[in-house]
Amino acid sequence: MFQPFTEEHEHFRKTVRDFAEKELLPNAEAWEESECFPNEVFKRAGELGILGAHYPEEHGGSGGDYWFSMVKAEELPRCQMAGTTMGLLVQSDMATPVISDIGTKDQIEEFLVPALAGDKIAALGVTEPGAGSDVSAIRTTARKDGDDYVLNGSKTYITNGTRCDFVTLLAKTNPEAGAHGCSFFLVPTNLDGFGVSRKLKKLGNKSSDTAEMFLEDVRIPKRYLLGQENMAFMYLMQNFQSERLIACASTTAGLFLALEDAVTWARDRVVFGKPLIKREYWQQKLVDLYTKVEAGKSMTYRCADQYNHEKYVVKQPLSFETVKLISMAKVSWRKSAARSPTSASRSTAARGIWTNTGSRAPGVISDWSASEAAPPRPCATTSPSSWGSEDVLCPVPSWNRTNPPSCSIAHRRPRCR
Ligand SMILES: Cc1cc2nc3c(=O)[nH]c(=O)nc-3n(C[C@H](O)[C@H](O)[C@H](O)COP(=O)(O)OP(=O)(O)OC[C@H]3O[C@@H](n4cnc5c(N)ncnc54)[C@H](O)[C@@H]3O)c2cc1C
Repeated sequence: MFQPFTEEHEHFRKTVRDFAEKELLPNAEAWEESECFPNEVFKRAGELGILGAHYPEEHGGSGGDYWFSMVKAEELPRCQMAGTTMGLLVQSDMATPVISDIGTKDQIEEFLVPALAGDKIAALGVTEPGAGSDVSAIRTTARKDGDDYVLNGSKTYITNGTRCDFVTLLAKTNPEAGAHGCSFFLVPTNLDGFGVSRKLKKLGNKSSDTAEMFLEDVRIPKRYLLGQENMAFMYLMQNFQSERLIACASTTAGLFLALEDAVTWARDRVVFGKPLIKREYWQQKLVDLYTKVEAGKSMTYRCADQYNHEKYVVKQPLSFETVKLISMAKVSWRKSAARSPTSASRSTAARGIWTNTGSRAPGVISDWSASEAAPPRPCATTSPSSWGSEDVLCPVPSWNRTNPPSCSIAHRRPRCR
């Protein structure tokens, strides 16, 4: 039988499970309510080795393989806050892998090491008001000026965006070249001209903060260019694979929790003289859902196995086969999985709606709307569409550094009104 987890992985699993259940879960109601989890959570996850699980030791990680990251993604949803899980996974698996892959020694020291320790909060800045799935349509520009770059534009839907210390940010260095004119930058958020326009309110994933941000003549030194100029579309497509994979793993884990919850409820709830679980309709339904989730888990593990082999054993760039498989997992598995919690929570009827009655379904599942709505971003081998022609203006309300943040949790830096 395929068994990727060693004793060491299982030991780490216990650490993450304890963190999720004993340190995070008791705060779920408060953090969902305040739509933010405290900055200290990043620090604690760093101390426990959760953020750096699969990074090389010289990058501030624990030197493990990718299966450590899978363990982390499987256990974090036990905190029953999809938002907190997402905020932590953005820090460890979305905003930072590209720094480890292509960063210079100085960039790794300045950004990656403190991010994996939880001392600096990271965000990934790709999406813009006018560009989501079509990444090459971004409008943010980085213009060379002497020894600096000057950035102008806006980003939206950015997780950890209201309190991040830096953004791994995609900008156009050659706007005429479409996908071949994109570059990555590491942008500290304490620079003049950088601001958060607003904190966005979401239907789900509540405990994570999501922001719109703007850049007005933000001047950064050339040393913050990540990798080569105009090559970022390729880097991003590699980075997206770890993003998709980790999202598939945490989604699968969340679905198992929601199903466990549905079964417990169906055992206990007596309707017209019989527990729900004794009704053939619910037996079939639950078996069908478990089958789907098991199938999704198998697909996710197959992706993780290939990803681990290529990145951690033979240490090569990902093959087209692996990119294809991970993209398939993202589209087919997460899309069909999206229906499972809805069906599962139907057995709990009214109870599945409330977030403070003990039902896990509303809290453990990550951003369904995003996974359902978004088609896969094109993989590096497909030809990107050209840069759109419509002008999109950034909504930039006044940035007020003295105004206190509206969120009740203390942030390290002030946010906008
Ligand atoms: C909770 C949350 C957190 C996020 N965090 C981040 C973050 O940290 N950093 C970041 O950069 N982004 C983040 N995002 C943004 C996310 O990556 C985008 O939402 C996603 O890429 C989709 O873009 P969009 O929402 O603009 O949809 P669009 O790309 O505008 O798509 C709109 C609709 O058009 C459809 N569509 C798109 N292309 C085609 C096509 N070729 N043919 C037919 N239909 C098509 C889509 O399926 C969708 O239904 C986050 C989103 C959410 C919901």
